Amino acid sequence: MFKVLKTSKKNKARIGKLKTEHGFIETPVFMPPATKGYLKSLDVKDVDNAKTQMLLVNTYHLYLKPGDSYIKKFGGIHKFMGWNKPILSDSGGFQVWSLNKRDQKLVKVNDQGVEFTSILDGSKHIFTPEKAVKIQHNLGVDILMAFDQCASDELSLKESENVLDKTNRWLMRNISEHKKLNKRNGSNKLLFGIAQGGKYISLRKKAIDFMKDLEIDGLALGGETIGYNMKETKKLLDNIYDIFPKEKPIYTMGLGSKPQDMIDAIIRGVDMMDCVNPARLARHGSLFVGNLDFKTFKIKSSEKDNILRIGQSKYKNDKKPIDKNCDCFTCQNYSRAYLRYLYLVNEPLYLRLATIHNLHFTNMLINTLKDFIKNE
Ligand SMILES: [Zn+2]
Repeated sequence: MFKVLKTSKKNKARIGKLKTEHGFIETPVFMPPATKGYLKSLDVKDVDNAKTQMLLVNTYHLYLKPGDSYIKKFGGIHKFMGWNKPILSDSGGFQVWSLNKRDQKLVKVNDQGVEFTSILDGSKHIFTPEKAVKIQHNLGVDILMAFDQCASDELSLKESENVLDKTNRWLMRNISEHKKLNKRNGSNKLLFGIAQGGKYISLRKKAIDFMKDLEIDGLALGGETIGYNMKETKKLLDNIYDIFPKEKPIYTMGLGSKPQDMIDAIIRGVDMMDCVNPARLARHGSLFVGNLDFKTFKIKSSEKDNILRIGQSKYKNDKKPIDKNCDCFTCQNYSRAYLRYLYLVNEPLYLRLATIHNLHFTNMLINTLKDFIKNE
């Protein structure tokens, strides 16, 4: 299913090809989340034009609304959304964990699974590994994530280990349900396991070790640390790279808040990433700019953190595009001055044009890195 085509001579970045039911993905790949079955303010043509290869949807949200059985009856999530390229679904483990963080009364975890109260209408639900897998098969996604228990960064080593052991026991149940459904439906969907372990490198190693011979198609790193704390994430990646199963894609969940974070992960051997932030930042006036320097693998620009804050008055008469090297629809047709005007008058068109740019810029940047590796 996955083939590494080339590894960089300069770092651990690699080009790979992943086969799914809806076509091939070239890795490294950034997957913009269309959490509830849509990517705010964009239609699928915009998403496609921004060079997006694959989208991410969320099991927990789609199960609650509009419902996985409803989507199954409709013909699956691809038909429902009008997107016929690959889709990966997050299992809901992270959302249940977030719900627990918000109010512990809403979630009860036991060895069997998780019982939670919906904040939409107060209804009670149970998620088990088997159920989360079944929901994802009902949605009809290409890649499923195993249902796991997410570990907070503040947990002690012993507590984190308990969470990890439960996640590992659950993984076996995820795998057997997934195999059963793939066989019954004649489908060829992929299942990724999630390595937990919080901030503890020894536990992450234990998790990866546990998974290395299991029938999973990819290995993900989950939990609070990944992507949110880039210093710890980079340290972790540097420490566990040697035990990565190199024949499988490596996916850092929730990583990609800023383009530099993605580059930093890719050059440490990561193949897949997702993050809501590129789109969210765009909607809030923060637009990506800069060029990747191939000596340092740092993005360089005149803006702080390579983010142009479009609301600033200095752009009032600026006729230039957001980024002169960006070939997105927005940069090809609109000036900073016009975008600033749209932003300040809260025009919905701004949301679309800004999101197109940040997604396109992100994909273009990764493609630039891929081209560099291909020509090395
Ligand atoms: Zn652009």
